[in-house]
Amino acid sequence: MPREYSMARRVLVTGGAGFVGSHLIDRLIEQGDEVLCVDNLFTGAKANIAHLLGHPRFEFLRHDICHPLFVEVDAIFNLACPASPIHYQHDPVQTTKVSVIGSINMLGLAKRIKAPILQASTSEVYGDPTQHPQTEAYWGNVNPIGLRSCYDEGKRCAETLFFDYNRQHGIDIKVARIFNTYGPRMHPADGRVVSNFVMQALRGEDITIYGDGSQTRSFCYVDDLVEALLRLMDSRDGFTGPVNLGNPVEFTIRELAELVIELTGARSKLIQLPLPSDDPTQRKPDIALARKELDWEPGIALREGLGKTIAYFRSLGNP
Ligand code: NAD
Ligand code: UDP
Repeated sequence: MPREYSMARRVLVTGGAGFVGSHLIDRLIEQGDEVLCVDNLFTGAKANIAHLLGHPRFEFLRHDICHPLFVEVDAIFNLACPASPIHYQHDPVQTTKVSVIGSINMLGLAKRIKAPILQASTSEVYGDPTQHPQTEAYWGNVNPIGLRSCYDEGKRCAETLFFDYNRQHGIDIKVARIFNTYGPRMHPADGRVVSNFVMQALRGEDITIYGDGSQTRSFCYVDDLVEALLRLMDSRDGFTGPVNLGNPVEFTIRELAELVIELTGARSKLIQLPLPSDDPTQRKPDIALARKELDWEPGIALREGLGKTIAYFRSLGNP
């Protein structure tokens, strides 16, 4: 059937070959959408979307969103940005560029084609929070010149751009503040805590706790997050967010390490390494707004989600 007669919604997912993006695309394809996945494969991998290549409603374009993109779509999910501290600190200038210049390009696209656009923002906009749990009204406590600033301030500037395009140009925006998310297709070497601990346990290596392990995070399983992103894109007209998306059950990093050891049956020891600079001491989302506006809350507990994640890393072989 020629393109103009297809009834499917055409959805652009930037960063679609990454961890979250590839799961989002699976759901979009499942629900009958046509998907254009745009990714420069900096931290993503073709393996994450290999099962979709050849699907009649899926297309992949290797492209860096720091350059303008001219395509015709009905909705945009903007996820392109390295997310793990070691990756976003590898080329910090590029990290700021993807959030700022990349967002300007995607917002310009949304403006031209009059499409709604969702931004994958982050709990990092709260920095090392002095308010706990964090509500969307909290303005954050961010170091503007530290090692994490390229990511934190880049994402904060992206939020500013989204809201200014909304006020100035009437663009339909949706801003998601995503808290730590984990699951299958995380890169085994991306340095984030869940992938590190699981890979170390599967290899029988020591588990590297940075600092004394008393810092907290709240871990959301990727399927729960994807459901929230879909609901946010389809949320009522005029609902822009920002809205916290994450699992409000909080764990210390030491508790996470102990759970990984229990679930893998590993004999690994816990060892302490220095805490990276500006590492937030606590993080837990207040998700009242997501409950109210999206009728959403996460349903997958850490124990269950970790089980699926461990099975995935095992399936890769040669840990
Ligand atoms: P990821 O690194 O697996 O995915 C990011 C994707 O963006 C990769 O496929 C990468 O190749 C691509 N990319 C990077 N720069 C690009 C560019 N200039 N042009 C095109 N593509 C580019 O990370 P993820 O965990 O899937 O994160 C996805 C999004 O969600 C990111 O924007 C991230 O900031 C946000 N987020 C994730 C988490 C989390 O815990 N996973 C938490 C908060 C926010
Ligand atoms: N962390 C750790 N050991 C590791 C990797 C991370 O103790 O091998 C800690 C890290 O210092 C932080 C928390 O785990 O306090 C979460 O780190 P991650 O990089 O996953 O994400 P962040 O929430 O810091 O962006």
